Amino acid sequence: MLKALELHGFKSFADKTRLEFPAGITVVVGPNGSGKSNIVDAIKWVLGEQSAKSLRGKEMADVIFKGSSAHGRKPMNAAEATIIFDNAEGTLPIDAPEVHVTRRVFRSGEGEYLINRHPCRLRDVKDLCRGTGIGTDAYSIIEQGKVDTLLQASPRDRRAVFEEAAGISRFKAKKLETQRRLDRVDQNLVRLSDIVEEVG
Ligand code: ATP
Repeated sequence: MLKALELHGFKSFADKTRLEFPAGITVVVGPNGSGKSNIVDAIKWVLGEQSAKSLRGKEMADVIFKGSSAHGRKPMNAAEATIIFDNAEGTLPIDAPEVHVTRRVFRSGEGEYLINRHPCRLRDVKDLCRGTGIGTDAYSIIEQGKVDTLLQASPRDRRAVFEEAAGISRFKAKKLETQRRLDRVDQNLVRLSDIVEEVG
């Protein structure tokens, strides 16, 4: 389902770079420090990763190309990554054969997300991925140590992985959100009846 990844100014990818992931298995090879892990970082980042540490940096601006004296290149002012999913089978809840998710961040600290080139909130990106196994905290990215973590996880945590795989987590999140909204309505009703009593 992952079709391509486009990077511009992201970590070591200063120039606009497009990586294609055709059907089957794609293997990325290269010498140490050539940027293989930066590709995984980019996928996590574009899907909403909020922890700079998890992207192997100190702060979010560390994802922006910081220049290279060896290549005589100046630091850049923004980083951008776009992940392109093939949605021909309609796996993602968007009526389009391809879904592009873009994230941009500027040195000033400002940033934005876009779905199919329309600005959106991080929540929309999370909602899009929920229940598909895609996402920073789902199982589609298995990093070093993750298998151990899963084996040692509590039954409750392990169940969450199965629920994501079964597509249940999307509905669970929606249920929780609705429950919160109902609670808020209840509180408002109590407040309203207090006011009615006072006025009456
Ligand atoms: P290994 O095989 O050792 O794990 P790798 O191919 O996975 O290496 P990465 O860790 O992806 O390599 O890339 C590290 C490289 O990315 C380093 O050379 C580092 O200088 C460069 N890099 C990281 N952040 C930036 C940035 N903001 N600007 C420019 N280069 C960066």
